Amino acid sequence: MLPDLQQRLAQAIHDYSYADPRSKQSRDGILGPSDLGFCRQKAVLTTREVARTDETNEAAARIGTAIHRYVAQAFAQANQGWIADSEKVTATFPSGVAISGTPDLICPSDNAIIDVKTVDGFEWVKRNGTSQNHKYQRHAYALGAMQAGLLDGSQTVYVGNMYIDRSGKEPEPFFIIEEFDPSLTGEVDSWIGDVIYAVKNGEDASRDIPAAVCEKICPFFTACRGGLEVHDGGTLIEDAELLAAVDMYVEARELSSHAEQMKKEAQRALSGINGSTGTYQVRWVEVAPTTIQSFEKAGYLRMDVRKVRK
Ligand code: SF4
Repeated sequence: MLPDLQQRLAQAIHDYSYADPRSKQSRDGILGPSDLGFCRQKAVLTTREVARTDETNEAAARIGTAIHRYVAQAFAQANQGWIADSEKVTATFPSGVAISGTPDLICPSDNAIIDVKTVDGFEWVKRNGTSQNHKYQRHAYALGAMQAGLLDGSQTVYVGNMYIDRSGKEPEPFFIIEEFDPSLTGEVDSWIGDVIYAVKNGEDASRDIPAAVCEKICPFFTACRGGLEVHDGGTLIEDAELLAAVDMYVEARELSSHAEQMKKEAQRALSGINGSTGTYQVRWVEVAPTTIQSFEKAGYLRMDVRKVRK
């Protein structure tokens, strides 16, 4: 029966993603470069192989994995000297901790590592730059590639992210490529040290992600925060990423109202004008009156951001 077929098709995708080597590595309690710099408590729970307690929406991650495979094939075809998603490297940090993973792209001729990220639009990354998580990840890959002799550490090494808009609205990728920063090695090592200390001593590590975000993205939410007070409206927002998101929203709202005002003033200046500038055609079109039947609009969640009254 068709409903059963639908279920089996959806299940096939679910099973395929469950068997993905990276998902398996995480379930086996092995930290990889993509865990670095995200949440130390999540790294602790992963290392302890704590069972996942919450279902999270994996759709974006699956689409990201599919795009990664496509991009890896494109890189491999484009340049035989590029090592595209095919060479596992191990970064050994000063403490002796070793983290292994497979970079999306090693370009020996350019002495560069490129890590591909799929995102929903570029505004966030253009405004806020590379996240700590992405910086630590590409740093670990570059360190491992240097230690394996695939990149030349005596010359300038480049680490970068290539962002692809998974919505397809942005036609070209966006890049952030920087010089490898050796001082980050100690910082990443100390982050890993916090995780190891907590695991060895049976303690919790720092919960680096705000609860409101955790609830949406973390499969350990109940195990980690289930017994803690969960804040709702009225909480003081202190997390740097959330503060940046509020600033971005307010700025976008101001830009949009400024843009509306600009459109109105320009329309007044062009009232009754029909013609072409050579680049743009201007036409005034008579729109016939229409009767809109009354209808019921579905309820939705509206975000309200306004200045706090002092
Ligand atoms: S619930 Fe939040 S703080 Fe806890 S492990 Fe997950 S991401 Fe980290």
